[in-house]
Amino acid sequence: MDEIECVVIGAGVVGIAVARALAKAGREVLVLEAAEGIGTETSSRNSEVIHAGIYYPRASLMARFCVAGKRMLYEFCRSRGVAFRNCGKLIVATDEAEVARLEGIRTAAAANGVDDLRLLTAAEARALEPALACTAALLSPSTGIVDSHAYMLALQGEAEASGALFVFHAPVIGGSVTGEGVTLEVGGADPMGLRARVVINAAGLRAPEVARGIAGMPTQLIPTPYYAKGSYFVLAGHNPFGRLIYPVPVPGGLGVHLTIDLAGQARFGPDVEWVPAPEYGVDPARADSFYDAIRRYWPALPDGALQPGYAGVRPKIVPPAIAKQDFIIQGPAAHGVPGLINLFGIESPGLTAAIALAEAVRDLAGGRAAPTT
Ligand SMILES: Cc1cc2nc3c(=O)[nH]c(=O)nc-3n(C[C@H](O)[C@H](O)[C@H](O)COP(=O)(O)OP(=O)(O)OC[C@H]3O[C@@H](n4cnc5c(N)ncnc54)[C@H](O)[C@@H]3O)c2cc1C
Repeated sequence: MDEIECVVIGAGVVGIAVARALAKAGREVLVLEAAEGIGTETSSRNSEVIHAGIYYPRASLMARFCVAGKRMLYEFCRSRGVAFRNCGKLIVATDEAEVARLEGIRTAAAANGVDDLRLLTAAEARALEPALACTAALLSPSTGIVDSHAYMLALQGEAEASGALFVFHAPVIGGSVTGEGVTLEVGGADPMGLRARVVINAAGLRAPEVARGIAGMPTQLIPTPYYAKGSYFVLAGHNPFGRLIYPVPVPGGLGVHLTIDLAGQARFGPDVEWVPAPEYGVDPARADSFYDAIRRYWPALPDGALQPGYAGVRPKIVPPAIAKQDFIIQGPAAHGVPGLINLFGIESPGLTAAIALAEAVRDLAGGRAAPTT
């Protein structure tokens, strides 16, 4: 049986960033990816927003890794020529009750170290975005957008340059804990078995399933997966906005917001629909609920302008009734299996946080304590 020092399961943005961090630290790394290439699941089905770190609960891993990861991601994009734009975002209040909530958002953001939010009057906001209707707004200058695929390719290139090997069509279908590490069973066209001293389970939506397949991993510590699908609608026609536009968050979600891609095309969403299993079809009828929500801040949205776009699925590890979850980085101190690190519930802001999160995983794999908040 082949022996590898470190195996990363999954080549989404998180798995690739972890592989890069481990390889740069001089460790032998093999990445096993079930699909035909990198980032075919959640990492290419998201808003591509570089989040500032505004809404996450104080002292959560999400807050910590988002704020640190944002700085690292901007620096990574600048130094590696990955396309990005630090376009900023407006959180818009459309009545007096919402205005009162903007100050609370600014205070919560400051507690996370995001202290650059600026409260704007309606006139100031409209001077920035003339098409906008609002009562007041918060400007987040550090929010941006990134070409997620170029970002992943650059991370993969550096991982490979430091010796990491990526294998595609290589689904992990089982494994077991042994005295000398974890053995993994790999399916696909060329099935094989291998043993690793360190295994990072970065399988995204399937991370709980992968953990469950490793005999010896305590099952009571594996969260039940839930899937919260988010559909996007793209704007057919001219986008008058240069910044991202978010309503004041509603309980359980960020509201129907407008993001833009690097070509300037606008898309709206994602909404929230709990599904029994990941699937990516976009039901055109869901557009109906978008129009009213969007017209609260953009009254001129033309009829028929929303076209079905794409969908992504949030890897939830809490049921619908519980709105909030945090990233789980579960190492040997938590489950008792030497060398195994499970990454559970890496939903938004995972794209923003990936480089910072990967450094924490690298340190944990090197014997350091699990990150605390
Ligand atoms: C709708 C939506 C919008 C989002 N918007 C943003 C945003 O704007 N900004 C932001 O920062 N974050 C955003 N996120 C979050 C971000 O996209 C994710 O946190 C991030 O992509 C997770 O990356 P990952 O590598 O953990 O998972 P994935 O990208 O899902 O990668 C997991 C990989 O594991 C592979 N795999 C699964 N099972 C196996 C197996 N058994 N063997 C081998 N390989 C396996 C899969 O094929 C996949 O390639 C959003 C998420 C969603 C759903």
